[in-house]
Amino acid sequence: MSAPNIETIVSLSKRRGFVFPASDIYGGLGSSWDYGPLGVELANNIKRSWWNWAVYERDDIEGLDSSIILNRSVWKYSGHETTFSDPLVDCRDCKARLRQDKLDTDDAGKFICSNCGSTNLTAPRPFNLMFRTTIGAVSADDDPAALAYLRPETAQGIFINFKNVLDTSRRKLPFGIAQIGKAFRNEVTPGNFIFRTREFEQMEIEYFVRPDEVQRLHQEWLDAYLEWIKSLGISAENIKLYEQSADELAHYSERTVDILYRYFPEREQEEKQWDELMGIANRTDYDLRVHSKKPEDAEGKRINPDSTEDLSYFDPQTNERFYPYIIEPSIGVNRTLLAVMMDAYTERTTDKGETRVILKLAPDLAPIKAAVLPLAKNKPEIVEMARRIKKNLQPSMRAVYDDTGGIGKLYARQDEIGTPFCITVDHESLEDNAVTVRHRDTWEQERISVDSLRGYLADRLA
Ligand code: ATP
Repeated sequence: MSAPNIETIVSLSKRRGFVFPASDIYGGLGSSWDYGPLGVELANNIKRSWWNWAVYERDDIEGLDSSIILNRSVWKYSGHETTFSDPLVDCRDCKARLRQDKLDTDDAGKFICSNCGSTNLTAPRPFNLMFRTTIGAVSADDDPAALAYLRPETAQGIFINFKNVLDTSRRKLPFGIAQIGKAFRNEVTPGNFIFRTREFEQMEIEYFVRPDEVQRLHQEWLDAYLEWIKSLGISAENIKLYEQSADELAHYSERTVDILYRYFPEREQEEKQWDELMGIANRTDYDLRVHSKKPEDAEGKRINPDSTEDLSYFDPQTNERFYPYIIEPSIGVNRTLLAVMMDAYTERTTDKGETRVILKLAPDLAPIKAAVLPLAKNKPEIVEMARRIKKNLQPSMRAVYDDTGGIGKLYARQDEIGTPFCITVDHESLEDNAVTVRHRDTWEQERISVDSLRGYLADRLA
């Protein structure tokens, strides 16, 4: 089972403290969200899992953390200033502002307003998605010399550091650079909870390869990501691949394959249930070329007169110098978190006929690994023992102590936030130095001695 719709996750998130509407006390700010005590843990665990998998478990990736605000030339030569836009249309009837490429068409090929159904829309005009700001205390808002952008992707920060990383790490092709960071896009139609927001976080790899190896390695990354996504507990039936058609490809891309997740299972038409979780692009040698000072156009003019560096690569084995091709797997933290929560969502009916929610998160991702619960909170010895157990677990796993309700309520709360283990301290524990360990997914209980508890849990969380 997985969540029947995104709304279910929105209300669970608000109720339990995963995600809150941002700026709520001032009426909110369209499609902005804050990550609460559990959301920040879940997001951190996703990022940690990705970094371990992408950087530590491989031998060919280095990490990077580049700036959010870059020299404006980066966005000029990357093509973002001229092409990073969505086709904006207005509905003349209901005044909604819409992204034309996301609209359905009628039999005559006319675009249909997704808000009111009218086809009375304006002609499309490009709307650049980059957020603008100005740099420096004395800058006037309209001073073009002070104009800067908040990055709309983390990728460009990697390309412009290619030579720095290559020289300091003494890498040979193929190798990659990984980065996690915020990105900003002034989206025309944000929405669907954290699926599309104007501020979000990306986990990107730029993988530099010889041109003749690009196809094979592109496929290898695709296969590797499918495995990693499944390792997050996302079921295969809710993931599928989408090969972008020639007219959908970005100007720099030779091939892009998206991995889609079933974010909208409630939609009647099967093909509308899916949307992009991530994309894996073959960006050719476009990026390193456009940021280099040497390449010339057909008339012999430098394509980049502002760059001071050449980002080509010298292969000592073949004595060749060339611009590496780049394979770019790019995935959003927020869309991953939403997919993980939707897929983990399960309901179970108790013997009394009550419906309970269980968030069957992979233990590695669960915000809290173990909750220690005293069965009698008015008995100081039991409370003291429970607090001691929590303290002993904490160095090796996120553990909490909770005595704010009856045991049934406490179990239900931990199930709903995905805690794999509840540890109950009762009267007998004082005699036998053992506790009851309750398993989230089966509700089975086992008696475990306190001395072996840490090892017992660690084995099952690994
Ligand atoms: P879409 O077609 O949905 O607008 P995109 O193809 O423009 O997405 P990319 O530029 O490929 O997205 O960005 C890589 C990844 O970053 C996406 O697959 C997604 O996971 C994430 N992402 C992009 N835009 C947003 C956004 N506005 N909110 C949340 N995540 C986003």
